[in-house]
This record gives sequence, structure tokens and C-alpha cells, in this order.
Amino acid sequence: MRRATWNADDVTTPYLASRLHGFGTTVFAEMSALAVATGSINLGQGFPDYPGPPEVLDVARAAIGTGADQYPPGPGIPELRAAVAAHQRRFSGLSYDPDTEVLVTAGATEALAAAMLSLLEPGDEVVLFEPIYDSYSASIAMAGGVARPVPLHPPAAEGGRWTFDPADLRAAVTPRTRLLLVNSPHNPTGTVLSAEELDLLAELAGAHDLLVLTDEVYEHLVFDGARHVSLATLPGMRERTVVVSSAGKTFNVTGWKVGWICGPAPLVAAVRTAKQFLTYVNAGPFQPAVAAGLRLPDEYFAGLARDLQYRRDVLVRGLRDAGLPVVSPEATYFATVDVRGVQPDGDGLAFCRALPGRAGVVAVPSGVFYAPEHAHLGRHLVRFAFCKSDDVLGEAVERLRRLA
Ligand code: PMP
Ligand code: GLN
Repeated sequence: MRRATWNADDVTTPYLASRLHGFGTTVFAEMSALAVATGSINLGQGFPDYPGPPEVLDVARAAIGTGADQYPPGPGIPELRAAVAAHQRRFSGLSYDPDTEVLVTAGATEALAAAMLSLLEPGDEVVLFEPIYDSYSASIAMAGGVARPVPLHPPAAEGGRWTFDPADLRAAVTPRTRLLLVNSPHNPTGTVLSAEELDLLAELAGAHDLLVLTDEVYEHLVFDGARHVSLATLPGMRERTVVVSSAGKTFNVTGWKVGWICGPAPLVAAVRTAKQFLTYVNAGPFQPAVAAGLRLPDEYFAGLARDLQYRRDVLVRGLRDAGLPVVSPEATYFATVDVRGVQPDGDGLAFCRALPGRAGVVAVPSGVFYAPEHAHLGRHLVRFAFCKSDDVLGEAVERLRRLA
């Protein structure tokens, strides 16, 4: 399987190593550039246009110009590793030793890449859900692994949720499977895996002795009383699971690129081996700031979700008014629409290319989150981000009415 990128077919460089063939410029970069070039409202790339909590930002400001500007310790500053462990204990109930079971990374992206590079042998298979967050396919390819996607299906009617067929998941796991890669809450669909779905994943991981990598960057952005449960909390799972998360979404600081992993010491030691030669360390002054954020009271995290739920509702209503059927997401920054009613050929990519001209808005065609051989499954789907300030979201919704 090959990649999910916007211009996957126009990689013409003779220098690109074969393992990266088919990986063009990421859709997020392309779409953000299109928004700037056309003066459109950017509901493509998922980043907030409002600041993080002052308690966090102030710590970073104060740290610049101090010793924190120099290389932090390889695994991350002790204060941040302790804060990650305490946050994990508070929200998932799992205990991790900050010295041997926590590693700070350059965002979740590096954590995921370092995990693939350190845990996979060439040819090892990774079972994961499709649509697929774009960096997964590239990281698996760079590690010489093979992705085995299991389709998530949209609900037949509004009000349902995206889910998978258990038979598809069982069939995807073979003797060559090494790793289960689970992203819940899920980008781009906004689905949160249910207790039954997590049970099945745990059963398969145990039965086939698989390693598990969980991407939980949207752990706090969960709505309507839905609950995020880490797969690592299920019986027997902590010992085989590397949990990945990041500060970007939780503190509205996607540009800081501070992430972390938690896991049993032997797995963390493996990931650390790859990580130390990718970036060694990063984000010196941001590390104490993220530590302060992770220590914020429960009310901060609840308020973050409440606020984003309100923004979700504004966008979902606006999309429906514009004639775009939408699944109201249980979590994340994103809502996915079916464009067939407003785009006669049902082509989400063509819709996104034309959207700046039609409505002055940019979105992301969900087809890029599918393997090429499954592209038809996502062809008519488009993802919109709602992590935007009231004015911007209100204006975007007004503009989208032009489609109706
Ligand atoms: N995983 C998922 C599912 C994401 O949506 C993103 C992007 N925000 C990342 C990982 C990357 O996170 P980071 O910016 O911390 O590298
Ligand atoms: N995670 C963000 C999204 O899905 C974008 C991250 C990126 O630009 N790589 O929109």
C-alpha cells in the first residue's frame, strides 16, 4: 500500500528513495497554502486560531532566555516526565515510572515515527483503521513495514457513528502482523472507539501477541458525554502498549510540537533509541510550559471540551444549512460531509479545489486518508475543522450558505 497525499502522483524527483515513492506534499500544507493564496477561511488543517491558556504560555515566555534554551535531557526534562506520569494517572488510572516509562518527543508525529522505526522489522505488518491519519502510512513505509487497513464505515443515517466490521478486523490480523495502530478519538472521522470495539482489539492483541501503538492526541476533545478510554487500560494491555499523546490539541499550541509516549520500560527504551537519532531533543522552553499545562485542574480539560463542542455544533448546523449531510463527530476538531448533493460528480477533491472560488473556504478531501486501492471509499467525503474563533466560524458558515 502507498500513501495518502494530495499530489501523490506528481513525485518526479529522481532522488527520492523508493520507499517514499508516492508520498507527495502533505495535504495539510497544500490546503493551507491554497487558503493563503485565495484569501479563504482555512477549515482544512486542524489548528486553533485562538491562544492556549495563559498559565501555560506565561511559563514558556519566562523560560526563554534561561538555561531552558539549551539541550534538555534526552528523555525530556524530569518536571515534564513527572507531569506526564501524573496526568496519565489522573485521567487513565495507569501508573508509569517517569524515569523509565515516559519519553518526551517532537510532537506525536515523531513519537509515531520513532515507534515504527524501532519496533518494526522490514515486512512486518501494521493493522490500522482507514481513513488513516496521513503520517502513519509514511512512517510505516520508512520503517519498511506494510500497512493493513481495516475500513471504518460511515453510519447509514445521520445520528449514527463510524464503525468497523469485526470480521474485517479479524481477517486483517495474520501471522505477519506485528503491531496494532489505534487512533481513538479518530482523525478524520471524529469517532471514539466503544467498549466493545476496544474489547475486540484487546482480545486480538492478546491472542496474536501483538504490540499496540495508541494515538490519543484528541484524548480531551470528546463531546456529549462520550468517554475516551485508553486501550492500554484493558486487562493485559499495558504491558504491550505504547501510548502516544501531545500538547498541541490539549493546550491549543500545535506549533510547539511537544509530544510524549508512555509504556513499559523495554518498549520505551526501544522507541528512545530511534528518537535520540531523529531529533535527540526539542522544545526546551516549551517543556516546562507543557508540564504546567498538564497540572491544570480537571475543570480546564472539561472546559476545553465544552468550548469545542459548542464550535462543533455551530459548524455542523452551518454545514447542514448549506445542504451538506454531516455526521456530528463525537470528538476531535473535525466534521466529515458527503458532497454528492452539491458536487454532481461526487468528487471531493474537485469540490475542495473549487471551494475557495465557490465559497471562500478551504477544506480537506478525505480521499487522501485512504490507500489508493480504497480511494473510492472516501472519494465523496470532505473534512472541515471547527477549531476556529466565533467570528471566523460564523463567517465561514455564512459563506458556505452560497453552496445551498
Ligand atoms: N496524530 C493525529 C491523529 C493527529 O491528528 C495529529 C495532528 N495533530 C498528530 C498525530 C500529530 O501531532 P503533533 O502535532 O503533536 O505531532
Ligand atoms: N493533525 C492536523 C490535521 O489533521 C494537521 C497536522 C499536519 O499538518 N501535519 O489537520
